[in-house]
Amino acid sequence: MARLLRALGRLPFRAVPGRAVRCRADSGGLRARSGPGDAGSLTKRGPTLSKSEWQKKLTPEQFHVTREKGTEPPFSGIYLNNKESGMYHCVCCDSPLFSSWSVVNVWHSSEKKYCSGTGWPSFSEAHGTSGSDESNTGILRRVDTSLGPARMEVVCKQCEAHLGHVFPDGPGPAGQRFCINSVALTFKPRKR
Ligand SMILES: [Zn+2]
Repeated sequence: MARLLRALGRLPFRAVPGRAVRCRADSGGLRARSGPGDAGSLTKRGPTLSKSEWQKKLTPEQFHVTREKGTEPPFSGIYLNNKESGMYHCVCCDSPLFSSWSVVNVWHSSEKKYCSGTGWPSFSEAHGTSGSDESNTGILRRVDTSLGPARMEVVCKQCEAHLGHVFPDGPGPAGQRFCINSVALTFKPRKR
């Protein structure tokens, strides 16, 4: 009996090192880019590349906007006047970010991409938004003070690509305008 209890008592201790090894393996792949200390907060992130790897994968304009927080010139983006139904994905990692519409019920869908007149593709919410909850979307918000007054930057949750900014002057009850660079996106038409 005593031997059995000792054996049972050892079980949890045998399980713990296994979990610890898996955690180290998860964060190890991210450490090269993010540095020590913040790997724990990056466990849900997808593949990350070095600066030179992103430069090889992206066009110079895509690299400047998404990896160097650039902004495409207004009225220059290929998706500004795109009225097709479909999904806008991250140009870096293909994560679905913004839909041109969302289903309200079986009879009705609501347009989420709209013409704001500002010169950049504009969306009233990110894909996956539920009320004011953005935990199931592909985006993150970050305070950006690079131009003085604080603005809210929008980045890809999976690869941290800079996408654009969100402003509180949009349509509808939420009143949000996601001002997103076309070059940060890839459009995939809705399947009919
Ligand atoms: Zn991404």
